[in-house]
Amino acid sequence: MTNADHPGTWHKVPLAHLPTPLEPLPALSRALGGPEIWVKRDDCTGLAGGGNKARKLEYLMAEALARKADRIVTAGGIQSNHARQTAAAAARLGLRCTLVLTDSVPGRGTAYHGSANLLLDRLFGADIRLYEGSADPDAAMAEVAASHAAEGERPYVIPVGGSNAVGARAYVDAAAELADQAAMLGQPFSHVILATGSGGTHAGLALGLAACDPAIPVIGISVSRARDAATERVRTLVESTAALIGVKRDPEILVDDRFVGPGYGLPTEAMREAVGLAARTEGLLLDPVYTGKAMAGLIALVREGRLAQGDRVLFWHTGGSVALFAYDEVFAEKR
Ligand SMILES: *Cc1c(COP(=O)(O)O)cnc(C)c1O
Repeated sequence: MTNADHPGTWHKVPLAHLPTPLEPLPALSRALGGPEIWVKRDDCTGLAGGGNKARKLEYLMAEALARKADRIVTAGGIQSNHARQTAAAAARLGLRCTLVLTDSVPGRGTAYHGSANLLLDRLFGADIRLYEGSADPDAAMAEVAASHAAEGERPYVIPVGGSNAVGARAYVDAAAELADQAAMLGQPFSHVILATGSGGTHAGLALGLAACDPAIPVIGISVSRARDAATERVRTLVESTAALIGVKRDPEILVDDRFVGPGYGLPTEAMREAVGLAARTEGLLLDPVYTGKAMAGLIALVREGRLAQGDRVLFWHTGGSVALFAYDEVFAEKR
């Protein structure tokens, strides 16, 4: 499975439905009255309800198999989409899976603690370890992995969000996939907008789209960190990913942190508006934690005139709509 071009790296295991569709959003574009808006449907990657982690897992799981791992260990919040997709990928490949889930979003209700992503994690047969919100996921994963190893297993630890160079390189490939689709349309995109969480998706896309001529700017709407911290994180991942695949590029890292609201996973009014608008104009499901806030950012950039008529904006849909069911009270008509 070793990739001859890049010693120390591995080919992918097929897990995702690729290429994902590239679709126009004419009614949403009309409703906002500015740029032409398109969507890259990585919510349709197929694995376990889809989402961006399926692409990363194609590389990460290939590395796990190459190392003869028999158990996957990863971490996230209780409603982690990454945990859900990892549990499904492990099930599909016949590997055991332990999920370290931290209860890090305050004030959530019953569904948040029992349904949606968590319900699916259980369905995929994952061994679920619940931790308090203050727990350090990296330390907890190391401890869990050590206890599995002590029992004679071969654990493979995937970092939060699958965001290391191995995972992020999947989004360098995804950038090439988009470039091919855009070339068929004959009109390049002026901007790419996405949600930036653990940063691997943003890093891979920025690195990949920097190879386009002209380079396409990638605007990350942060869903957790302040701008400087998010930028630094993405930049570090760009460097390690560039080193892994053997390219030299230095894309500008653009992060807008105005749409996080009170914190990661906490609803905002702009997110509610964005989720509602996409649903009503396009029948398109977003999610409360990532793409809803990213779309809120896109809407604000249009209203501020920073994305305008003549621009052709690609919204990179990273999935997550399973989590809508964990936030049922937020979307109820009367609150
Ligand atoms: C994980 C996730 C993201 C963020 O991707 P990162 O690579 O962690 O920045 C965005 N949207 C959804 C739905 C996700 O699950």
